[in-house]
Amino acid sequence: MPELPEVETTLRGISAHVLNTTVTRINIRNPKLRWPVPDELARQLTGQSIIDIKRRAKYLLFITHQGTVIIHLGMSGSLKIVAPETPYDKHEHVEFCFDNGKALRLKDPRRFGAVLWTTGPIESHPLLKHLGPEPLSDEFNASLLYKLSRNKKVAIKQFIMDSKVVVGIGNIYANEALFASGIHPRRAAGKISQKRYQKLCIESKRILEQAILQGGTTLKDFVGGTGKPGYFKQELLVYGRKGLPCTQCHKPLKEIRLGNRSTVYCTRCQT
Ligand SMILES: [Zn+2]
Repeated sequence: MPELPEVETTLRGISAHVLNTTVTRINIRNPKLRWPVPDELARQLTGQSIIDIKRRAKYLLFITHQGTVIIHLGMSGSLKIVAPETPYDKHEHVEFCFDNGKALRLKDPRRFGAVLWTTGPIESHPLLKHLGPEPLSDEFNASLLYKLSRNKKVAIKQFIMDSKVVVGIGNIYANEALFASGIHPRRAAGKISQKRYQKLCIESKRILEQAILQGGTTLKDFVGGTGKPGYFKQELLVYGRKGLPCTQCHKPLKEIRLGNRSTVYCTRCQT
């Protein structure tokens, strides 16, 4: 599943090709994504200029004077830039053509992704209005986590994966950030000191930034290539390493299920 660093890398990969262009055509080859691609999209977006491209959580936003296109990559989605005459690949469901002679295609085999259109203020859209702060922003800090977690019995791992608390810390990064902070994934969020939250914030930001930096080396893949940044090349210290030695103390790592998600940690280093 594309996590926040991949979505950020996608944004950077496509921006130069899409920003300040005018949409000449939209081909909706299969509208049956997570929600149907709205009928009015082609009518409303054709002829509009893309004046800004942003990311909010894992949503990509193409902003025009008339409204905003909201794109989510779901479980298996990717975007790539091609020449419009390029034959379609299987699962390329939506295509945007621009006046610079390029086309952007959404490929999504599992069709959990979304392409939506809104004319209202984007921050109050139902999909976006309850989202917590961006993890790389200053709003995501120890005092926020400390305040939100008081009296909460929920496991810290599930707490930091809750998009109302902070967006974009998916399963892989939650595993890694907790290991780097020495915090047991099952510890009750309300029983963690502000000092430990400080460490967790610093490590979460560091790990996400590192992943984005890594993604930056794959930007060329968005043009003609797979549209998939090679973020799995990033070195993961606990995720997917069940039974292998801890990189700090060499004890074999343990795997449990938390919220039905694979959770790998060191029983010695994480308390
Ligand atoms: Zn260890």
